[in-house]
Amino acid sequence: MAGDSTRTGYLSDEELKGGPGIPGETRRRKGAVAVLECLEDIPCNPCESSCKFDAITVGEDITTPPVLTEDNCVGCRSCVPICPGQAIFIVDESLEDDKAAVEMPYEYRPLPEKGDIVTALDRAGQPLGDATVTAVKKTEKMDRTATVIIEIPRDWSMRARAIQLKHES
Ligand code: SF4
Ligand code: SF4
Repeated sequence: MAGDSTRTGYLSDEELKGGPGIPGETRRRKGAVAVLECLEDIPCNPCESSCKFDAITVGEDITTPPVLTEDNCVGCRSCVPICPGQAIFIVDESLEDDKAAVEMPYEYRPLPEKGDIVTALDRAGQPLGDATVTAVKKTEKMDRTATVIIEIPRDWSMRARAIQLKHES
């Protein structure tokens, strides 16, 4: 799909809006749900087979971008570390006090720790502000890809897609 991302290297909010892998706000407000930020016609489909709940469909033509069936998604997080493009996030907008949680793949070292205050970054790598790390997940099965969950203001839930540790700033 041609768009801003062919020039910038990252998907813009406009490109993602209404995309086949993007859950609507009503679903996001109910609790954890996958966000598939994958619009390229590339031959790839491990996300589909990683989902035991039939929430991700690529189909026979594996160059078709994945489609999310948002009401099937239970937010189990299995698809996040599986994606070679690091294009899958879990967003939960059901937190109190206008907060949200975002789980993202993380392949840098050192890993942050639970309780750390880090800087949330948008897709362009621009800082949004402080975020609290609420969990770091790393198992043998996940190979080199850990996942990090941050708590942020709800307004950032569809923009915060990376973190920077404070001592890296
Ligand atoms: S979070 Fe779980 S249920 Fe939702 S799409 Fe990913 S693997 Fe499927
Ligand atoms: S695994 Fe990731 S890159 Fe591959 S089709 Fe699924 S979302 Fe896209």
